[in-house]
Amino acid sequence: MLPPFVNIHTHKASGLGIELVNADDCNSLPDSNFVSAGLHPWQVGKCDHQQTLDAIDRLCRDGKIAAIGEAGLDRAIETDIERQKDVFAVQLDLAKQYHLPMVIHCVRAYSDFLQILQHEPTVKMIFHGFNGNATTANQLLRHGAMLSFGHQLLNNNELQKTFAGIPNDCIFLETDTKDIGIDDIYNFAARLKNVSTDELKEIIFNNLISIFGNKWATIG
Ligand SMILES: [Zn+2]
Repeated sequence: MLPPFVNIHTHKASGLGIELVNADDCNSLPDSNFVSAGLHPWQVGKCDHQQTLDAIDRLCRDGKIAAIGEAGLDRAIETDIERQKDVFAVQLDLAKQYHLPMVIHCVRAYSDFLQILQHEPTVKMIFHGFNGNATTANQLLRHGAMLSFGHQLLNNNELQKTFAGIPNDCIFLETDTKDIGIDDIYNFAARLKNVSTDELKEIIFNNLISIFGNKWATIG
């Protein structure tokens, strides 16, 4: 049987395929058995960090979430980067402790993450909405990162070339907040990779299993 579509980062379930639904509020999870929750860098300085981090800890302990995120670093916002790094470090420790992958929000902070990845080779990080250049992509991949591509892929020529050139075993696709079908992103991405949409479904489903484990192997 053909594997389903995998949407590795969305804020709203659409019902199409396997969707890792991001909880925008750690205190009320979306109705899904595949959820990520984290403290987004945009929330740093705007919420009670300790309370949110405690909530994430509880969700990890109770097995309610499959990944920690979005978490990350954003150098395009005014929030002090050291403060962002402190909040990220706590979540990184949780990811290690509970053996969970992370969904990473990274804006102009790839060099920060190259350092983090060097010191934390065991945590699987999925860089969501990747739109860096080929050099950055290859550096991240050398450190074991996964890259997820979304709507930016549709109209960014350089990103399309980067996507076409990187190995198949490190890619995911996503819709994030956009009103676009994951199937449309697959169809477009398959042409860039010179494979059929069905072949791309196999590729990305295998990547899902490699990161999130065998419990998905029976779905299809
Ligand atoms: Zn998002």
